[in-house]
Amino acid sequence: MAKIGINIATGSLQKKEIIVGIDLGTTNSLVAIIHPDTKQPVALKEHNSSSLVPSIIYFDESNNTIVGEQAKQHLLTDAKRTIFSVKRLMGKSYKDVSGHSTSLAYKIIDDETESLLKVQVGNKFYSPIELSSFILKELKSRAEHILKTPVNKAVITVPAYFNDTQRQATRNAGKLAGLDVLRVVNEPTAASLAYGIGLHKDDHKTIAVFDLGGGTFDISILKIANGIFEVLSTNGDTYLGGDDIDEAIKKYWINTLGIDANAENEKQFVTELRLKAEDAKKYLSDHDSYESELDSHALTITREVLEDLLNPLILKTLASCTNALKDAGVEKNSIDEVLMVGGSTRVPAIKNAVSIFFGKAVNDSMNPDEVVALGAALQADILAGNNKEFLLLDITPLSLGIETMGGLMDVLIPRNSKIPNKISRQYTTQKDGQGSIKIAVYQGERDLVKDNRKLAEFSLKGIPGMPAGLPKVEVSFLINADGILVVAAKELRSGVEQSIEVRPQYGLSDEEVEGMLLASITHAKDDIATRALLEAKTEGEQLLETTEKFIQKNILFLEPREMVQTAEAIQALQLALTMNDKDLIHTKIEDLNNISRPYAERIMDQAVARAMQGKII
Ligand code: ADP
Ligand code: MG
Repeated sequence: MAKIGINIATGSLQKKEIIVGIDLGTTNSLVAIIHPDTKQPVALKEHNSSSLVPSIIYFDESNNTIVGEQAKQHLLTDAKRTIFSVKRLMGKSYKDVSGHSTSLAYKIIDDETESLLKVQVGNKFYSPIELSSFILKELKSRAEHILKTPVNKAVITVPAYFNDTQRQATRNAGKLAGLDVLRVVNEPTAASLAYGIGLHKDDHKTIAVFDLGGGTFDISILKIANGIFEVLSTNGDTYLGGDDIDEAIKKYWINTLGIDANAENEKQFVTELRLKAEDAKKYLSDHDSYESELDSHALTITREVLEDLLNPLILKTLASCTNALKDAGVEKNSIDEVLMVGGSTRVPAIKNAVSIFFGKAVNDSMNPDEVVALGAALQADILAGNNKEFLLLDITPLSLGIETMGGLMDVLIPRNSKIPNKISRQYTTQKDGQGSIKIAVYQGERDLVKDNRKLAEFSLKGIPGMPAGLPKVEVSFLINADGILVVAAKELRSGVEQSIEVRPQYGLSDEEVEGMLLASITHAKDDIATRALLEAKTEGEQLLETTEKFIQKNILFLEPREMVQTAEAIQALQLALTMNDKDLIHTKIEDLNNISRPYAERIMDQAVARAMQGKII
């Protein structure tokens, strides 16, 4: 396969077209570009305002959205309709977040399946992809307003530990916002580029990136050689960050003032106290003591007191650093640079502790809120072909994937991935006793396979009879240095396997690639709506099937009232499935779940009790 220059491979990169870098953060998001005159990365901001856009979405009564600082105000007044920390939900099923969902004021839907979760606002259901797209749309329109030019292409950053599903979800959010996402880049890689590490082919370094944001902490160990950034290890805590510091200060004040934080008449006071706590924390990053008041209560705190409160948090982060080094197989003294990223690394005690831990001064010369976005802008510049050292790379010009239920495209190797590459993912059967599974391989960016280019198809036969959902079929895509794709499928319980070879690039011109990319952007909205509807239908059908099976098996344990209610809810869901309204389907799924949950739990408990009795006798 020929070496493809990225600008040729993607087909549509024109010299003057701007590609923005986006840091889509849990707490704050922002956009950066390479300044056309200085050639340096800069974060975009309107006059006199911050470059940071809080990653918060408020839905008004008619479900119109407001994103950013204005939405943040509604956290206090209308918490159920104000969505924050969406990034934590990306690519997650309800089961993944169930332990933490009680800490959120908004409603996460528990449909008791493995499917991706949704957030309910009023009578509408939103996927984290849609929610993130609202933030990206806001960033896009701000950038267009500031730059006075259309913005259609972006590089978006994600945490190094994001898996394939989470990365794909991020790409889809971009697409839905009308952005062609040229690449999804690891946040620590972006930070490294911003510090100029890895910008030249002969840079060889091992670095640690310490990223403490609002609600998450990540430590990544990277090895940089020959223009390649390898993540040796990542560690951290997705529930540790600046929010915990605010909370600690708030508690300190509640204690010193002797307030009953649970009393109904103190609720408003405690909420406002929390905001004061964040002010105090930020102020103490540059001063020795803070003084203010709230409702004629004096609020004071010194840096010394804050440092005591911080100790447990600091110890946790350092324990993660130790683990990350261990996993990477790297000694502290082999770390060449320690980069400080994320707003919370402005706290002097944290900086000190990290530099003592690594035994060297940390790199903190860049704005820690902006550094990831600045690096994303540099990566965008490389992709635009402006950095000659990185012009030639072997990449996949279009995404490669397989057909899944309802004719949906499931991407295994996203476009612009480096070659060679290998990825595998597990699938299962839909029907009881299903003996074969069809693997149809497609290329393209559209959500429905019918709009993409079919490359090959084969069947994995001889799967032994098992109930639906039990077989584990691993599909792997291996694309070698010559651009040949080997698709293999293996049922892991029985070991049956089958594979096929294809040449994805065969007979595909640059113009066709470009046409396919453009179509995916112009159809993004419809595509994602169709996908959401198909997913809702699949979920509804699966729920009907499992409910009916459950009832057949346990009919003797159900009360007549429960039978009637269930039958009605089943009928309502069946009717909803015939209509093309995903929100209606989700509502009916919810209703059926709410009716069946109590007796399902009761019957399970009884079964457990019977089994226990059996053991004792
Ligand atoms: P994320 O990457 O999770 O979106 P950020 O990197 O934007 O988050 O960090 C946000 C956090 O940084 C918030 O908790 C905020 O209070 C904190 N922060 C911002 N400025 C300061 C400061 N001067 N001192 C201490 N913490 C700060
Ligand atoms: Mg961040």
